[in-house]
Amino acid sequence: MNIIADLHTHTLLCRHGFSTVTEVMEEAGRQGLLAVGLTEHGPGYPGSVGWAYFNTYRDIPRKVGDLEVLCGAEANFMKLDGTLDFTDDQLAKLDIVIASCHKECSPSGTEQEVTGMMTAAMKQGYVDIIGHPDNPIYPVNAEVLAAAAAKYQVALEINNSSPAARPGSEPMCRQIIAAAKRHGTLLAVNSDAHYHKVVGSFAYALRLLTEMEVPEEQVINSSLDRLHHFLSGRHSCNMIK
Ligand SMILES: [Zn+2]
Ligand SMILES: [Zn+2]
Repeated sequence: MNIIADLHTHTLLCRHGFSTVTEVMEEAGRQGLLAVGLTEHGPGYPGSVGWAYFNTYRDIPRKVGDLEVLCGAEANFMKLDGTLDFTDDQLAKLDIVIASCHKECSPSGTEQEVTGMMTAAMKQGYVDIIGHPDNPIYPVNAEVLAAAAAKYQVALEINNSSPAARPGSEPMCRQIIAAAKRHGTLLAVNSDAHYHKVVGSFAYALRLLTEMEVPEEQVINSSLDRLHHFLSGRHSCNMIK
C-alpha cells in the first residue's frame, strides 16, 4: 500500500513541536507526498495557538509544486458530550479536521463514555478523522466506534507515532483495525510528526495494515483520488475538489 498524503502534522507553534510550517511542507514534497495536512493543536491544548492562527490560513498556498496543502486542525475533545475546542463555524472553514483526546485537556471516562464522546462529535458532521483512537488512557469499544465511524463516514486514524507517544496502544489499534474491516470503516494513516524529518513516516502503521490485510480501498490517503473523493462535499474544504 502506498500512502500519498500525511494528513496529521505539527509545527513549533504548538510549543511542543520543532519545525516550521515551511519545513513541514518542504519535507512532504521531498518525501514525494502529494498532499500534506497542517493540523496544529486546537486552542484547548495548553500553550497551543488560538483561533486567529487558523483564521489566517488564507496566506498559506494550497499548492506548492505538486504538493497539495490542507489547512486544518487537530481539535481537542473538551467534554464528554463531544464538545470540541472549536465552534462548528470555525471547523467548517478548515480543509481538514482531526478530533483527538489529549490528556492535557480532554476528559476521560468509561469505554462507553469515551466511545459516546467520539460518536457525538462525528455526528456533528465537521470531523473528518478521529485521531489516535488507540490511546489506552481513553478506552473505546472498537466495535461500536468502527460502526459509528462507518455510519458517519469518518476515518479512524492509524497513527504512526502511537508506539512512542502512547505506549501499550498496539492491542487496541489492532482491535480497531479488525473492527474497521468488519464494518467497512475508513482509515487514515498519518505520522503525527512534531519534527519535519518525521513527516511521511508510516512504517509501523503500514506494518499493522499489511499484517491484518486491510484493503487499500479502505484507507483514505492511499491514493489522491481516494483522498479527493473523501474530502469532496465535506464542510467547506476549499482546496481539494
Ligand atoms: Zn494528538
Ligand atoms: Zn497530533
